[in-house]
Amino acid sequence: GVKPKESKVDVLIVGAGPAGLMAAAWMAHCGISARIVEKRNTKIFTGQADGLNSRTIEIFDSLGFSDRVWKESNHMQEICMWNPNAEGVIHRSDRIPDTVVGISRYQQCVLNQSRIERWFIDNIKKYSSKNSNNAISVERGILPESLVIDESKVEDDDAYPVTVALRTLTEEEATPVQAATASKSAASDGLFRSNLVQDDDEADLLRKSQSRPGTKEIVHAKYVIGCDGARSWTRRALGLELEGEATDYIWGVMDIIPITDFPDIRHRCAVHSAENGSLMVIPRENRIVRLYIQLKEVVPDASGRADRSKITPDLIFRAAQKILAPYKLDYEYCDWWTAYQIGQRVGNSYDVHNRVFLAGDAVHTHSPKAGQGMNVSMQDTFNLGWKVALVLKGICKREILATYQSERRRIAQDLIEFDHKFSRLFSGRPAKDLVDAEGIDMEEFKRAFMRGNLFASGMQVDYGPSNLVVKSGNWRELGDRSEKSAKLLTKAKIADDKFAKKQALATGIPVGKRLASFKVVSQADARPWHLQERLKSDGRFRIVLFAGKILSPQQKARVDRFCAKLDAPESFLRRITPADKAIDSVIDVLTIHASPRKDTELLRDFPDILHPFDQHLGWDYTKVYADDVSYHEGFGNAYKNYGVDKEKGCVVVLRPDHYVAWVGDIDDFEDMESYFEGCMRLPAVSAAQDVGIVVETVSS
Ligand code: FAD
Repeated sequence: GVKPKESKVDVLIVGAGPAGLMAAAWMAHCGISARIVEKRNTKIFTGQADGLNSRTIEIFDSLGFSDRVWKESNHMQEICMWNPNAEGVIHRSDRIPDTVVGISRYQQCVLNQSRIERWFIDNIKKYSSKNSNNAISVERGILPESLVIDESKVEDDDAYPVTVALRTLTEEEATPVQAATASKSAASDGLFRSNLVQDDDEADLLRKSQSRPGTKEIVHAKYVIGCDGARSWTRRALGLELEGEATDYIWGVMDIIPITDFPDIRHRCAVHSAENGSLMVIPRENRIVRLYIQLKEVVPDASGRADRSKITPDLIFRAAQKILAPYKLDYEYCDWWTAYQIGQRVGNSYDVHNRVFLAGDAVHTHSPKAGQGMNVSMQDTFNLGWKVALVLKGICKREILATYQSERRRIAQDLIEFDHKFSRLFSGRPAKDLVDAEGIDMEEFKRAFMRGNLFASGMQVDYGPSNLVVKSGNWRELGDRSEKSAKLLTKAKIADDKFAKKQALATGIPVGKRLASFKVVSQADARPWHLQERLKSDGRFRIVLFAGKILSPQQKARVDRFCAKLDAPESFLRRITPADKAIDSVIDVLTIHASPRKDTELLRDFPDILHPFDQHLGWDYTKVYADDVSYHEGFGNAYKNYGVDKEKGCVVVLRPDHYVAWVGDIDDFEDMESYFEGCMRLPAVSAAQDVGIVVETVSS
């Protein structure tokens, strides 16, 4: 036959669900050449996941589309618990806040997955067109057929060690089979398309691929990211597996506009009936309400799969009516429904040779109860994408890629463990009284729910020590191994004490967690900003200098010394910044000081490096902030909330995904430099001298 076309690309992403789109977003924001292929011929329009946790919305803000989510979604404020009373009739037993109070400036909200995919597609198009010649758009109706890794090339930075054969599908092949058979009420009708998806352009309805069905292409890629869902082809092609719980739960899900006298239908509810099972109510945008029901009557057969033909919307709905009785529940409009079977499993490995990665449902599956599927999947590639991008740009060492598995696999394991406990509590029958040992204690359920909410917010994520995160080691584990000498243990303890001292400089900025946000006031124009608004996802590391009371002469002297080192030709900042790029193009330096804003002057009190000068653009007015009151938005109390001393200040290094990498004293410059030496490909100092920079003139 005809010889297939061959091409090269830095990153090939397989699957355009939430995880794949997040990976593509990083490539777009970092200007990396990437392609994203998807077997479906259209984006999805209804159904699937809908919960967005606080951390996900913070991430969307850093990419530039949280405003659209915030406007269109339903904001969840309260969770109501419904349980049987002494007579076995359900009643409201508790109300708790939906999002743990004070944890983020965003609260959990719900919105259709299709809308989120829409905004990703727009955002990827916008940034990839801006940052490279290579606009990234989802190539639909394309299926990978083989994947081969050339092991002899995996350590070579310039090589394309992964070869993937792609085939363009026929129209029928690219049309997704509905998870559940269509019913008259389940089909999306004109109502949905007219009022929800006004900006889903017609092009999304068409098959995107330009090539004829059956056309083949051989792609040579430096990296491949498999985001192709729970039945991942990439995972199978790599010979990797999901491990865990063998039994699959079957969930019925319905998106309806309810007609009901149940008083809490616009609250998120967990309803335990005495004998008829449990149900979750999720109030959604546009009058829609989602009901989740675990279908206990439908059990998998010997092959492990349930007989889907037995599951109908009527069956799901009748189960819901029974649970909510004596309240009445009916509907005329059903937007979407499904029944899906899901086990609690985690991938045994997340990558092969750090060249092919798996993310999202491809490496973890669990119940939809905590609304985590889409969030954790997007957060996987939010963790991975910038690492791949910065390695490709030659900024970071390839070793950092190993942290993807070490950081994210633990999150999936925690999630599965949590989901396991939570599902049991959710699906069990409520205890009739204190001696009913088989029943579920509702107080225990409430406590688990509260803990679950903290976990589900995404804020608990705490990455362990690595070449990207400097914190105390695991000396306790070392101590268990008796053959390890006391020497090792002592060394580890010293490192631990050293770290504890550093962490004490910023008690509200735990190393390994994402930086929390408080308001600070711009020194140049008095505008209040949430600090997180200044942390865009553009692939830059950040140094946040808590300069303290800059008007005190001793403190100013310390800040000046720090800045002189930072500005010196041999500093890591100068060495890592390409000669033709602005000084803040790889590492962005932000300053928050603690002197009264009105007594302080940007140009007089802060060294140039903190507000760099550009001969075409003048001074940069966007980098220095005061921890002070604003005219209209109160006082953020940043130093207090971050636990930083106003006299001493401190320095914080953030990774491009806003996780805290390093905390130290303003005088700890060398220690901070060694952080960057650990993860970046810094040109040697002598190389800088070779190009004619005279080091001696710096210190004055
Ligand atoms: P997915 O969203 O599954 O995306 C994978 C993408 O890869 C898909 O677009 C798929 O078409 C594509 N793909 C697959 N194989 C290939 C291939 N070989 N080549 C190219 N492309 C491929 N979560 C909830 O929280 N609540 C719910 O009610 C809920 N309902 C769901 C119902 C269904 C039918 C499904 C499938 C999932 C549901 N989920 C639900 C889970 C939620 O949608 C996922 O957790 C989330 O979308 C994970 O994102 P992902 O990008 O990892 O995977």
